[in-house]
Amino acid sequence: MATGSSAARPVLVIASGNPGKVREFSHLLADLDLEIRAQPEGLEVEETGDTFAANARIKASAVAGATGCWALADDSGLSVTALGGAPGVHSARYADSDKARIARLLRELAGAGDRSARFIAALAVADPSGTIRLEVEGECPGLILEESRGSGGFGYDPVFLVPEAGLTYAEMDKGLKGRIGHRGQAFARLAPQLQEQLGAEV
Ligand code: IMP
Repeated sequence: MATGSSAARPVLVIASGNPGKVREFSHLLADLDLEIRAQPEGLEVEETGDTFAANARIKASAVAGATGCWALADDSGLSVTALGGAPGVHSARYADSDKARIARLLRELAGAGDRSARFIAALAVADPSGTIRLEVEGECPGLILEESRGSGGFGYDPVFLVPEAGLTYAEMDKGLKGRIGHRGQAFARLAPQLQEQLGAEV
C-alpha cells in the first residue's frame, strides 16, 4: 500500500510520446497514489506487432527496460466495419497529420452505407525488468460522421460519434471520455490491480 508520503510513492512511466494519450492518462491516473513520469525524450519504440495487445506489450517492456521503472503503454486505434477493420493497428500511420488522417478516412468512407466503427485500446504494464505484469483491453462502439464536430481531444476524435452520448469524442470533456471511451474502459479494468501491484512491489 502507498504510504501517503510523496517520496515513497511508486513511480510509473507513461510509455507514450503522444501528447493526447499522455493528457488522458494523467487525468485517469490522478486518483491513484503513484508518481507519474513521462517517458524519456527521444525514445522511439518500433511497433512491429500485428495486434494492439502485442504493440502495447512491446512498448511497455521497452520503456521499462530503458528507464528501470514500471511502465504503462497503450496501443490503440480505430476499427471501421466498412473498411474491414482498417485503419486498426495502422491508425497512427494512416496519414501524416490528424487532419490528413481524418480526410483519408472520410474519403474512403464516401458513399458507405455502414458507418459503424469502434475504438480499441490495449494497455500493458511492465515491471522494471521489462516483464509484462498486467494486460487489459477496452473498446467503445460508435459511428463515423461525414464531417468533424468539436474541438477537444486528438486524432480521429472529431469524427467519432458515440450514439449513447449524442456527442463526438471531441465534444466530450475529459471526465466523460474517461468514463465511456475505449481508453477509460480499459483503464477501469486496470486501475485496481495497478495500485495493488505497484504498491506491493516498489
Ligand atoms: P498508437 O497507439 O500510438 O500506435 O497510435 C494510435 C493512433 O490511433 C493515434 O495516433 C490516433 O490517430 C488514434 N487514436 C487512438 N486513440 C485515440 C483517441 O482516443 N482518439 C482519437 N484517435 C485515437
